[in-house]
Amino acid sequence: MNGKTVMACIDAAYASLKEHTDEIALLDQQIGDGDHIFNLLRGMEALLAVRADIEAEDFGAALDLAASKVLSTVGGSSGPLFFSLLNGMAKASAGNAMDVAGFAHIYAAGVEAVGQRGKTGVGSKTMMDVLIPVAARFDELAVAGEPKAAVLEALPKVAEENMLATRDMLATKGRASFLGERSRGHIDPGARSSQLMITAVCARLAQNG
Ligand code: ADP
Ligand code: MG
Repeated sequence: MNGKTVMACIDAAYASLKEHTDEIALLDQQIGDGDHIFNLLRGMEALLAVRADIEAEDFGAALDLAASKVLSTVGGSSGPLFFSLLNGMAKASAGNAMDVAGFAHIYAAGVEAVGQRGKTGVGSKTMMDVLIPVAARFDELAVAGEPKAAVLEALPKVAEENMLATRDMLATKGRASFLGERSRGHIDPGARSSQLMITAVCARLAQNG
């Protein structure tokens, strides 16, 4: 894992978000203000614009650079939240090996940082409803000594199940919470974008390195 791997994951996540632009825009129109996907695409495009700088760094510094670009370009609630994810992972990368167990810790540290920033856990109908169950399963699989290929196959399924489960939840955080009961019946846009990014990154990492 190095800056080139980080950039390959960003490319994969960007391609998937781009492909689902209309769908995610609609989700955020239904329970938010419609800007979520455009916030994310703007951030990802800022990352693509500094490709050479990201690729030249080691894993932690690449994530750190990506985090600061995200913070300065992504608006809405999700900018500081995705900054926290990347920054939390960058910080944790120093003390962890780049194997399944180490990466489970690094990812969990990122999710923990998002939780602190957004002051929420599972059940509020946010991206946390995808990020946390994925971290929990990642930890279980790492503790069980599962190989990388099995982990990369399992996590997208956890992400998808939990993304779909946001449909029936009542939103209690963020803009969607203003709708009260009317927030039910729609998938949370941040849960969908997070699930798509996790799936794309796992598929990319399963290809090599
Ligand atoms: P805004 O709601 O400010 O327009 P975005 O549209 O970019 O920001 O992001 C909305 C997404 O942010 C939601 O779908 C939800 O997943 C996520 N979100 C909102 N508030 C929180 C929070 N406190 N913690 C975690 N995620 C949150
Ligand atoms: Mg929005």
